[in-house]
Amino acid sequence: MNSPAVGHGIDTAARARSAALEQQILADPPRFRVLTGERPTGALHLGHLIATLASRVRLQAQGVEVFLVVADYQAITDRDASGDLPGVVRGVLLDYLAAGIDPQATTIFTHSAVPALNQLLLPFLSLVTVAELERNPTVKAETAAAEARGRRGMSGLMFTYPAHQAADILFCHGNLVPVGQDQLPHLELTRTVARRFNARYSAGRPYFPEPDALIVPTPTILGDDGAKMSKSAGNTLELRATEDETVRFVRRARTDSERHITYEPDRRPEVANLLTIGAHFAGTTPEALAEEVGPAGAGRLKRVVTEALVEGLRPMRARRAEAAAHGPEYLDAILRRGNARANQIADRTLDEVRDLMGMRY
Ligand code: ATP
Ligand code: MG
Repeated sequence: MNSPAVGHGIDTAARARSAALEQQILADPPRFRVLTGERPTGALHLGHLIATLASRVRLQAQGVEVFLVVADYQAITDRDASGDLPGVVRGVLLDYLAAGIDPQATTIFTHSAVPALNQLLLPFLSLVTVAELERNPTVKAETAAAEARGRRGMSGLMFTYPAHQAADILFCHGNLVPVGQDQLPHLELTRTVARRFNARYSAGRPYFPEPDALIVPTPTILGDDGAKMSKSAGNTLELRATEDETVRFVRRARTDSERHITYEPDRRPEVANLLTIGAHFAGTTPEALAEEVGPAGAGRLKRVVTEALVEGLRPMRARRAEAAAHGPEYLDAILRRGNARANQIADRTLDEVRDLMGMRY
């Protein structure tokens, strides 16, 4: 999962389909409903921002309806929830607002507050086989990790998570899911569930959409230790970081011993990472930024990246401060509103699903 470059291993048909979708979004944004989200396992970081949050904000600005699930049930697939879950959830919410998610336009909800969504898991699980669940890349990786740990296995919730994801997407008839280049297979099970449900219970008038993948460029952002930035690795630049912490992050970031700056993600991952970060905030491409810095070397590159990053994060810090100043009640009210809307939609979907399945009593 550690391929930093854009353009590796993408199925060309899927890419062409995504390009066509981008055109359709521009022409008719209300046709689309996006579902995506996060497990609330910690504060969001620069990797999340560049790889996922930025594209959500873009879709929101284009007038596409966006649903964000704070997947608290999925937070307990591989850990217990005894930590400060409400605190983490509020933190993620603040990260969203800081990144530019508008809670008036976008529905933000938590799994646990939407029972009808979770109930869809039962019919959906009946539509997939154990072998299909085992083929999911995350389940596969978890199976390998569980074997490496010896006798500590993976939870049943983790094993069935692809079907839970199908419920997340289909409860609101989501038809567009932004995914990174490695994540195409993740969506496959949702498409299978929709297709089989329609064939079995709703032939003639397909009830669920088969959601499309919108492939968004998702470079893997590296942490200050040169490994993939991740909450659990402790190598992140959190979106809530101060300006000083931001400056220190770039100062600590690794480069290499070659003076001339070039964008070669496979050969020079650390330099490519700084170029990716800098280009994201400067509104240019890593290649163009490399061209610009070129012979001036790593010192110059770090100065350019620091400036772009500090400038780019400044408005986010301001939005965070503004939202935080309203107090926790403000955040709770946003969640309550999102949960109410998600419940309304999920209740209707579950009703219709039970109708189609002949479960009318
Ligand atoms: P954990 O350490 O708990 O796994 P994480 O920091 O890796 O946390 P996840 O919640 O696993 O974050 O990531 C959710 C999604 O965010 C990923 O599927 C991916 O799209 C994106 N993402 C996370 N980290 C990065 C990163 N370093 N670079 C690019 N995208 C990332
Ligand atoms: Mg992770």
